[in-house]
Amino acid sequence: MTDFKPKPAAKALRPATQLVHGGTTRSPFGETSEALFLTQGFVYASAEAAEARFKGEDPGFVYSRYANPTVAMFEERMALLEGAEAARATASGMAAVTAALMGQVKAGDHVIAARALFGSCLYIVEDLLPRYGVETTLVDGADLSQWKAAVRPQTKVLFLESPTNPCLEVYDIRAIAEIAHAHGATLVVDNVFATPLLQKPMALGADCVVYSATKHIDGQGRCLGGVILASKAFIEANLHNFLRQTGPALSPFNAWVLLKSLETLPLRINQQMQSAARIADFLSDAPQISRVLYPGRDDHPQAEIVRRQMSGGGTMVAFETAGGKASAFAFANALSIIKISNNLGDAKSLITHPATTTHQRLTPETRAGLGISDGMLRLSVGLEDVEDLLDDLREALSAVARPHLAAE
Ligand SMILES: *Cc1c(COP(=O)(O)O)cnc(C)c1O
Repeated sequence: MTDFKPKPAAKALRPATQLVHGGTTRSPFGETSEALFLTQGFVYASAEAAEARFKGEDPGFVYSRYANPTVAMFEERMALLEGAEAARATASGMAAVTAALMGQVKAGDHVIAARALFGSCLYIVEDLLPRYGVETTLVDGADLSQWKAAVRPQTKVLFLESPTNPCLEVYDIRAIAEIAHAHGATLVVDNVFATPLLQKPMALGADCVVYSATKHIDGQGRCLGGVILASKAFIEANLHNFLRQTGPALSPFNAWVLLKSLETLPLRINQQMQSAARIADFLSDAPQISRVLYPGRDDHPQAEIVRRQMSGGGTMVAFETAGGKASAFAFANALSIIKISNNLGDAKSLITHPATTTHQRLTPETRAGLGISDGMLRLSVGLEDVEDLLDDLREALSAVARPHLAAE
């Protein structure tokens, strides 16, 4: 990534300040806002300078598939926020997940993953890795004994998301990292649902953290992006050459959008989280809703782990309408401010019916095993006035039959 070093004092700054200033490098023009370097390559003052650059004797940019000044600023800012030594940006969250896993393994290795994975992550683990001779085992992420039992001498990587999509299950990252390390394996955590502000997987023992920057980091529905964070040694050993040579590079334009987004990340997350907490409480009082899952509530199944490893419940709420698919659809269709979309983390509140969209590829049995019922909806809470969101939800509730009526 970057050849820019943060200013010595930079590390002591608080997150909100880092997110405005961290990683900024100014061109000779002294621009206020981060510059957008839309360039593929770089020119050298002399043949000797080019030679030195390629030998690594002169720090600087060579080619934007390797590194780019705008992308480097985004990487540096993310590394400061995460408290990681190094970061690499990628074109999407899936490019980050794919690289973080494939970069570490070879034929004969074994990977263990929590079964409750984002659909495309499940494809990487279940379909893609085995094609290249990497065996994989899926476990119930909440059951530590299953992680332990799945470990083999060939186990190289443990992989999980927490909170999970869409049921917002929370896994004990510290305990799972200990299982990995006891067997010489690494732990990779997809931290998208928690956001970098509410959960620090590396501080809990994870070796590598991945994000879809498409979600809260952009947070305004504009562009795709991803980022991988780890120690310098981890990146050097597993990812530096993999990323340079396979080329899932983030566009400088998208890096610029994401850099500007990071400036407002704490404001957005705090506001969206406050609204999500209000909405979770509101829904749990509604007779039409049989179950609410929100990591910030005391009735969350892993509330005790949430208290230990997260500093907030996040911006996502999952809930079940009592009457199955028909009532879930009636609820979603009756909303007007909250839009039907499979995206999340956006300023716009978005609702998804996982069973028929993001998780329709799974068999009904697998969905049932994951707790994804036909009545479940996943709500990503946005930045609208929470009173308007509550009005919208109230309207939708009235479109759903009360359970005693539905039974007649
Ligand atoms: C969206 C998402 C991804 C994939 O990110 P893209 O930017 O869409 O490629 C991976 N993991 C989780 C948990 C996600 O929500």
